[in-house]
Amino acid sequence: MLNASLKPSIAIIGAGLAGLSCAKQLQASGFKVQIFEKSRGPSGRMSTRNGNHWSADHGAQYFTARDPLFIEELNNWAKDGVAGAWHPRLKVFEKGQWRESTSIENRYVGIPAMNSPGKYLAKGLHITYSQTIHQIAFKDGKWTLHSQEDGSIDEQFDWLVLAIPAPQAFTLTNLIDQSIAEKNIVDMLGCWTVMATFTKKQDLAFDAAFINGEIISWISRNNSKPGREGLETWTIHANPQWSQQWIELDKDEAGKRILECAQGLGLDCQNAQISVHRWRYASGSMEASPGLKVYEDIHLGLCGDWLHGGRVEGAWLSGHQLANEISTEQTHLMNKV
Ligand SMILES: Cc1cc2nc3c(=O)[nH]c(=O)nc-3n(C[C@H](O)[C@H](O)[C@H](O)COP(=O)(O)OP(=O)(O)OC[C@H]3O[C@@H](n4cnc5c(N)ncnc54)[C@H](O)[C@@H]3O)c2cc1C
Repeated sequence: MLNASLKPSIAIIGAGLAGLSCAKQLQASGFKVQIFEKSRGPSGRMSTRNGNHWSADHGAQYFTARDPLFIEELNNWAKDGVAGAWHPRLKVFEKGQWRESTSIENRYVGIPAMNSPGKYLAKGLHITYSQTIHQIAFKDGKWTLHSQEDGSIDEQFDWLVLAIPAPQAFTLTNLIDQSIAEKNIVDMLGCWTVMATFTKKQDLAFDAAFINGEIISWISRNNSKPGREGLETWTIHANPQWSQQWIELDKDEAGKRILECAQGLGLDCQNAQISVHRWRYASGSMEASPGLKVYEDIHLGLCGDWLHGGRVEGAWLSGHQLANEISTEQTHLMNKV
C-alpha cells in the first residue's frame, strides 16, 4: 500500500471490465483513480440493450472462468447476486444439420443482465461518463487529456491507462509515440448483432446455438438466462469475418441479410420487433497475448481483452495485472526518491 500523503494520480480511459478491474485494484493500492468513459454507463462490450418491455445482452453472451484469481472474483460476484451459472439447451448447426452440443464448459452470465458485474465494480469508483478522450499529451512527467465533449480536462495525472480496444488505443498513442502501434499488431474484427423481440415464446428446441458455415455464428434466447424479465428476446450475432467484410453496410440491409439466415435456421422474425447494432471492434487479440503493456518511461499502461485472449475473463485479468505492475513500478520510483 502506497503512502496516503503521496497518493499518485492515475487516469484510466475506458470503463469496460479491464478498466474497472484495473481501477479497483489501483484504488485498493492507494492510487487516486479517475476513469473517463465515452458511454453513459459502465461495462463496455459486456453490455445490455434495454427497449420497451425487453432487454438483451447484445455484446458478450456468457463468460468462462479458468484462472484462480478470476474464479475468486466470480465467487464474489455470485455471492453478491450479480453473476451466476447459465445452463442453456445448447445445439450446434453444421453442414446443414443440427446436433446436440457436446461442450462441457461452465458458462456464467451477469444477473439480472450482462452489465451487472460492470455496474457492481463501478460502485465506489470515480467515473466521468459521456467523455470521449481524443487527445493525450505527456509533458514534464504529467499527463493531460482532452475530451471531445468538454475540451481540456483540468486535472493532470501521474499515470495514464488505456483500457480500450487496440485500434482506439493506437489512435491515442500515435499522438505521442507511433512505435507503440507498430510493435503491438492485432487485428480486431467487427460484429453485426440483431435483437429480435417477440410477443410469444418461440417454440425452438434450443436456448442457444453455435452456427457454423453461415452468416450467423451465434443465436440465443436472452430470457433463458437467470433473472431476465420482459418479452422474449433473441440475440443473433453474425460471424466475425462476414461482419468485417460488410461492416459499412447500411444497418437495415445488414439486419435483413441476418434475418434471412435466421429464418433458414428456424427462427422466423417476421412478426418480431427488430433492433440492429454494429460493433466496430468486437473480437480479436494479440497472438502471443502478453497480458498487459507498461511503458515505464512515460508512465503509460495498456490493458484490455486484446492483450489477454480476447474475452471477458482476459479483460478482467489484464486490468488487474496491469494495476499490480503499476503499483510495483510506483513503489520502486518512490523508494528511489
Ligand atoms: C458481439 C460480441 C460478443 C462477445 N461474446 C463474448 C462471449 O460470449 N464471451 C466472452 O468472454 N467475451 C465475449 N465478447 C468479448 C468481451 O465482451 C470482451 O472481451 C470484454 O468485454 C472486453 O472488455 P474491455 O474492458 O477490454 O473492453 P471494452 O468492454 O470494449 O471497454 C472499453 C471501454 O472504453 C470506452 N472507450 C473507448 N474509447 C474511448 C475513448 N476514446 N474515450 C473514453 N472511453 C472510451 C468504451 O466505450 C468501452 O466502454 C464479445 C464481444 C462482442 C462485441
